[in-house]
Amino acid sequence: MKFIDLRSDTVTVPTQAMRDAMYNAQVGDDVYRDDPTVAELECFAAELVGKEAALFVPSGTFGNQLALFTHCRRGDEVILGDDSHIVVHEVGAPSVIAGVQLRTLKSSNGQLNPDEVESKIRGIDIHFPSTGLICLENAHSNGRVIPLSNMEKIYSIAKKHNLPVHLDGARLFNAAAYLKVDAKDITKYCNSVMFCLSKGLCAPVGSILAGTKEFIDRARKGRKLMGGGLRQAGFLAAAGLVALKEMRARLTEDHENALILADELSKIPGIKVNYENVHINMVFFDMSETNYDTDKLVQDFYNKGIKINSAENGEMRFVTNYWVTKEDIHFVIDTFKEILSA
Ligand SMILES: *Cc1c(COP(=O)(O)O)cnc(C)c1O
Repeated sequence: MKFIDLRSDTVTVPTQAMRDAMYNAQVGDDVYRDDPTVAELECFAAELVGKEAALFVPSGTFGNQLALFTHCRRGDEVILGDDSHIVVHEVGAPSVIAGVQLRTLKSSNGQLNPDEVESKIRGIDIHFPSTGLICLENAHSNGRVIPLSNMEKIYSIAKKHNLPVHLDGARLFNAAAYLKVDAKDITKYCNSVMFCLSKGLCAPVGSILAGTKEFIDRARKGRKLMGGGLRQAGFLAAAGLVALKEMRARLTEDHENALILADELSKIPGIKVNYENVHINMVFFDMSETNYDTDKLVQDFYNKGIKINSAENGEMRFVTNYWVTKEDIHFVIDTFKEILSA
């Protein structure tokens, strides 16, 4: 049975072009720097985000944690939003791997207040931890794209205090598509960036961490320490190259489909779509007024061939992706109406 899967863009399976590229990939032992396909991907990726060098890593979480581990010393403090992926969805890894302390700031829809960021940078008092890093997230996992003016302000504050900025850009190219800018126009406001190949871009595995050559040289050693030195990874990198070359431009289709989904959902009585957060491929909505049990909804949808997640903190999230067509969206809406009226 073919399922329509709205749980996330991480569920995307590789395209035929990726399968062909993987089958034909030239590979070698990448720990020996012998894999030409990984080298090509890292070079192409660095260029795309305007950084000197890049490193292929197994996952987005791995890339973020490696960035913290490489930028910081144990006991350093990292300033970031309390709703950021690194805080909420990475299993507390900063305290385990980098051994850092998180200084979380309340975000306003994913945006940090630059003045507040500056006020939290530690002075030299012997009692204080040292501020080691500021982390931003764009696109934010709340579905929003953070304005470049906000990133620019925080980046200039960081520079003034000689602090690096790491960007969690898991959906960097969605943000670029939404803003109609080049990815470089976003990543010029950070020292390092992580982005995922395996979300909307459909690669089966992998993310990229990019930064200066000196930073990536150190990160390469940290990646080995963390068990991420992969051998014939060119099979995965081959799919990653297809992801970056062929799948970036079409992300706008996912965004268009998300808007259609948002419009149609909002017409269903009792459903309140959070329109302000529909920037990329995610639609958040509240259906508490329908009084329908969301766990039961998951099962009902499943029985009709549609996979969804239940509510998180009272909010439902549907995510569009390459494998979800406009027709699929209309089927989802019809099914939703049918379930609610049954
Ligand atoms: C998905 C995601 C990650 C982590 O990626 P994984 O490959 O799932 O580990 C990091 N940050 C954000 C904002 C994400 O959405």
